[in-house]
Parts: sequence; C-alpha cells; structure tokens
Amino acid sequence: MIKLTGIKKSFGKQEVLKGIDLTVEQGDVVAILGPSGSGKTTLLRCINYLERPNDGEVAIHQFKVDCKRASKQDIHTLRQKTAMVFQNYNLFKHKTALENVMEGLVIVQKLPKQKARELAVQALEKVGLGNKLNEYPSRLSGGQQQRVGIARALALNPEIILFDEPTSALDPELVGEVLAVIRKIAGEGITMIIVTHEMAFARDVASHVVFMDDGVVVEEGPPHQLFGTPKEERTRQFLKRSI
Ligand code: ADP
Repeated sequence: MIKLTGIKKSFGKQEVLKGIDLTVEQGDVVAILGPSGSGKTTLLRCINYLERPNDGEVAIHQFKVDCKRASKQDIHTLRQKTAMVFQNYNLFKHKTALENVMEGLVIVQKLPKQKARELAVQALEKVGLGNKLNEYPSRLSGGQQQRVGIARALALNPEIILFDEPTSALDPELVGEVLAVIRKIAGEGITMIIVTHEMAFARDVASHVVFMDDGVVVEEGPPHQLFGTPKEERTRQFLKRSI
C-alpha cells in the first residue's frame, strides 16, 4: 500500500537517510525503533514531504511522488492521504478541542461546518474525549492533548497515520492512556507507522517492526522475530540496552 524506494536525505553535509526501502501493507501497524539520531523522525517526515527527500520515491497505492519531479500539487495530494501525530501535539492553543479537530476538515478538506463538526465529535468520542469538546488545550492534561492530536488525525480519514514519538513528551503516568487509544485504533485496521521508544508496546501492537541505525534499515520483521531472534548484532545490542 505504501512503498518507499531509495529515500535519501541530508542536512548540510550530514547524510541522515542513506537509501531507505520500506513496504507497508494495508492495515499494517509498523513500529520504527532505533537509537536517538538514527533518522527515524526524518524518515517519517519524508513520507509526507514535511522534509523533502533528496532522492527516492514515495508511493501510496498507485500515487507515486518522485522527489526529483514532485510538484506542489503532488505534495498537496500526498498530504491529503496522510495524517501526522506529533510528539508535542501541535494543537492551536486558542482553539477548543473540537475546533482543533474541525480545522483540517474545514480548511483543507473544505467540508461544510456542520459535517466537519459531526466528524470531529465522532473522532473525539473515539479517543474518550466526548466530554471535553469545548475545552482549550491549557485545560487538558498532556495525555488528553495528545488524544486530541490523535482525534484530529483520525477525523481526516487518511490512508495512513504517522505517529512521531507520540508519548515521549508525556509524564510516565499519562503514557498508558495514549497507548491504549493507539492500540484501540490499530485494532480497527487503520494503517499506521509509529516511531516509538515503547518497546513493550511495539512488541504487542505492531504487525511489523523496523530497526534503524545510522540512516539505514538494519533489520525488519514481525515482532516475535525481531525481538525474539534478531539476526543482526546491532539489533541485539540495541534491544539489550532498551528492554
Ligand atoms: P531520530 O528520530 O532517530 O532521533 P532524527 O531523524 O530526528 O533521528 O535525526 C537524525 C539526525 O538528523 C540527527 O543528527 C539530527 O540532528 C539531524 N536533523 C534532523 N532534522 C534536522 C534539521 N531540520 N536540520 C538539521 N539537522 C537535522
């Protein structure tokens, strides 16, 4: 369903992604693991061209974007097919939970307000915030703010949701509620890629795990294989340090 081919990205002289190939099937939950600085977030951001790759191709179903030829329209179309959940939520502070979720539906998808409101309420109910529709972010806990971020992504009904370390800004006691929501929507068959340091979660919820180091995919496979019988020494060392 999603195919990345030969994705390369440099910042100045530093080559952060050195030619990444990755295939994601419909309904997959892909966890990307790896040491800090290995290029995980950059890879995620290349999928929707928040970072433009220097080389390579992103394909979602039949829609292919080659970084050498990508037009503004191509990038707009690509973004319509994806939604991202950010580490720091990226909510509008002067908008309520409901307005935050409605924003993309009204401004980007051009839905009538009434329809947008309906979809936004549904999404907020799905993440357990049906009773917080009119609260401002400052009145919500970090976990609740991130659940608004997830509702915003869900409401867009994208082909794939990209999660960039969705729990790493949270106090430990708030991590569980956000992981529970992600687990629930993963169970509904929504295709997703999650950059995470939550090993137990990756092991439990992912259908496919990718281990990156130093800008390359070192190893990938189903969780029982990657966690149970990793083939590469670098993967073994990383898991030993992280679990
Ligand atoms: P990870 O998510 O695995 O921690 P990142 O993709 O965030 O890794 O970063 C990989 C490397 O790219 C790091 O060395 C980081 O400093 C660098 N980097 C990421 N984004 C930028 C940027 N916008 N400008 C310059 N360097 C960047």
